[in-house]
Amino acid sequence: MKVAVVGVAGRMGRALVRLLDTHPILELSAAVARPGSSAVGRDAGELAGLTDTGVSIVDSLADAVQAMDLVIDFSTPEATMETLRLCLADSQPVVIGTTGFTQPDLDTLNSAAGQLPIVLAPNMSVAVNLTFKLVEIAAKALGDEVDVEVIEAHHRHKVDAPSGTAVRMGEILADTLGRNLEQDAVYGRQGQTGPRERKTIGFSTIRGGEIIGEHTVMFAGAGERLELTHRAQSRDSFVEGALRAAMFVADKHEQKQVGLFDMQDVLGLR
Ligand code: NAD
Repeated sequence: MKVAVVGVAGRMGRALVRLLDTHPILELSAAVARPGSSAVGRDAGELAGLTDTGVSIVDSLADAVQAMDLVIDFSTPEATMETLRLCLADSQPVVIGTTGFTQPDLDTLNSAAGQLPIVLAPNMSVAVNLTFKLVEIAAKALGDEVDVEVIEAHHRHKVDAPSGTAVRMGEILADTLGRNLEQDAVYGRQGQTGPRERKTIGFSTIRGGEIIGEHTVMFAGAGERLELTHRAQSRDSFVEGALRAAMFVADKHEQKQVGLFDMQDVLGLR
């Protein structure tokens, strides 16, 4: 199956090229970098630390999209919205790993999912998606007896905060506990904050070095505390998930099914 990767020169893009190289079904067939990037014109494999794959990096998906079976995009919200426009025009299923979308972007994604199968997941790691399920189970069991806090750490290059994964954890907590994330979230604390309100969902963000991604949801009670922690040790965990999402979205397309799916759908955890 022919795959286009958008954001191919990025950290995730290069990891995708490496794992696609050994995939039995999916094949890298188009590689798209930012217009003006020094990667344009280079071989995608060579950039990812492999030998030549024979796929030259281009600066637009527009000419390549028609020949593809699906598109995987790990880039920026702006670039992903352009990918979506091209996929809509050409009925191409798409896997989106990019994070940091605005609400209008998400509205556009939702309406595009009326015409295309789309997998959108802020974290494609299988174990993180299992953690989402565990957070839901813990929140259901512990309810309003505990304080809930989400703590995340990422590398110094990350441009959005809290991470999409942390926000998703907050959404799961809010849904399960019957709270409103917009009203109840507290992003960091400083100064005379007063005592903590039970319904608060707290977020703490750490940025530094080359931390790939760490998330903890803390359920802090009177005499005990439960912490659910996931630590990514390599980007390959996200890529493995993205490739499973790619197979899933291609299958949906083949069955002429459309919709906005996430990794809970891909992994059958819903
Ligand atoms: P990165 O900055 O290393 O890579 C992003 C790449 O996109 C850059 O090379 C940039 O030049 C490129 N780009 C920008 N505009 C483009 C355009 N118009 N066309 C093609 N490419 C364009 O970032 P990264 O660490 O690879 O992460 C990329 C995105 O994926 C971020 O939003 C990040 O938060 C997200 N992410 C998601 C997961 C997940 O599992 N869903 C995991 C890791 C990162």
